[in-house]
Amino acid sequence: GDQTGDQTGDQTGEQPTAERDDQSGIALWWVRDDLRLADNPALLAAAQAGAVVALHIDEAVPVGRRPGAASRWWLHHSLAALAADLRRYGVPLVLATGDPRTVVPEIVRGLGASHVAWNRRYHRPHRDLDAAVTSRLRDGGVAAADCAAFLLHEPWTVTKDDGTGYKVYSAFARACRSRPEPREPHARPDALYGPEQTTAVVAGHRLRTWLDAEGFAAALGARGWLPTAPDWAGGLRAMWTPGEQAARVRLDELSEVFDGYDEARERPDRDGTSLLSPRLRFGELSPHEVWHRSLAAAGEGTSAAVQIFRDELLWREFAWHRRAVLPRMDTENIRPEFDDFAWDDDPEALRAWQQGRTGVPLVDAGMRELWETGFMHNRVRMVTASFLVKNLLQQWTKGEQWFWDTLVDADEGSNPFNWQWVAGSGDDAAPYFRIFNPYRQAERFDPDGAYVDRWVPREEQRTGPIIDVAQSRRDALAEYRRVKNGP
Ligand code: FAD
Repeated sequence: GDQTGDQTGDQTGEQPTAERDDQSGIALWWVRDDLRLADNPALLAAAQAGAVVALHIDEAVPVGRRPGAASRWWLHHSLAALAADLRRYGVPLVLATGDPRTVVPEIVRGLGASHVAWNRRYHRPHRDLDAAVTSRLRDGGVAAADCAAFLLHEPWTVTKDDGTGYKVYSAFARACRSRPEPREPHARPDALYGPEQTTAVVAGHRLRTWLDAEGFAAALGARGWLPTAPDWAGGLRAMWTPGEQAARVRLDELSEVFDGYDEARERPDRDGTSLLSPRLRFGELSPHEVWHRSLAAAGEGTSAAVQIFRDELLWREFAWHRRAVLPRMDTENIRPEFDDFAWDDDPEALRAWQQGRTGVPLVDAGMRELWETGFMHNRVRMVTASFLVKNLLQQWTKGEQWFWDTLVDADEGSNPFNWQWVAGSGDDAAPYFRIFNPYRQAERFDPDGAYVDRWVPREEQRTGPIIDVAQSRRDALAEYRRVKNGP
């Protein structure tokens, strides 16, 4: 093959703590939300330490949230793409299942690895889990590198004078912009190679198994992450190609996206946004690269677009910085006064919303787009979420859960953060009296009805809503006013 770099795994004697001199040439890259070779600090650290073995764990830990169905579909294909990219360098991608606190040390022992590197996670319980893995590895004399890659700014570097995080977006964004520019992206490692010896048994297999395309595909398939009966992923396959290469193709189109972005991005009837959210979610692209490329992509007259686009990237940062200090953001109201809210519990209304059968055309179009493609335009996300929470009066957690399962970009920061933003229970949230009128929104942002027509047949658009939209809005306002003012 076209393997790059030397194959000797020669160590230059730079390791201060090489207790296992004979085997110190292998470094494990623990792959998480960083499914790429470019601008990957953990991969660079591993490649510098020696021959690389990549590891992905299906974390069957009792704590933490299992990826939703659409995310599992994406992960399956993105891991397959990553394994193929790594194979060209002779680097095996090992798939394991279980609790990382035992899996990582076990695999390190099996390989005789001296180094482990990963890109940092910011949310609990994963952060604590990683800390536990670090201490177990260090106890065993293995170096663990915990690298920064998922965010442009580390959460503890953007704080108010009292050391706590910002709760208001505009102040947060201002603070980010007054900090040093995010670092420039790194290239791929220039010397990347796998272990010469491929007979070591790892996760019950010989390393060779993990280098072999068929063996890898079988192991990946055994995770059961693809839908079978029924196979609902046809629309996802039609819209998306997971993996770093496809992500880069999209990144190259950014300058076209910027042409008219300031207006078109609000319009679900136009293809006006970058569609980079799943790429950032799974780390097929680094935020640093997207940040810097956005400036490079700006042509004449599109500097306003870059500013707006970077503001969007900072919303992602804001959500994640909040998530870093709010471990239960997906289940608990950020503002406790909302704990007292008298939500309606109506499984039938919830199902109608999920299936795009509310009789409100823009809402139904959004929910059908979501089901079909794993994506929904941001404007329509706000409208559908507002409708569930402020017209159907269902608790925001139910909508968050549905999005978690069906969005290809569902993540543990942005999804609950934005749901709480719409519900009014979050930081810098939409005020409670801001209830989107889905008809007015359709007139403004889908003026020709092209978006709705794409997803909802004309005759269905005329069925009429399952609830009285105006009355439900009044009921919601009354309830919101009550929790606001206290009992
Ligand atoms: P662009 O307009 O091209 O924006 C560029 C990037 O900025 C996006 O890729 C994304 O990473 C980031 N971004 C933009 N808007 C937001 C935002 N409001 N919050 C956080 N990041 C943002 N986004 C997710 O990535 N994952 C989610 O699980 C998610 N859930 C959402 C739930 C609700 C109820 C709402 C209202 C919004 C949610 N969003 C989520 C935010 C937003 O809708 C998507 O990021 C955006 O639609 C992705 O499209 P794009 O990449 O074309 O965006």
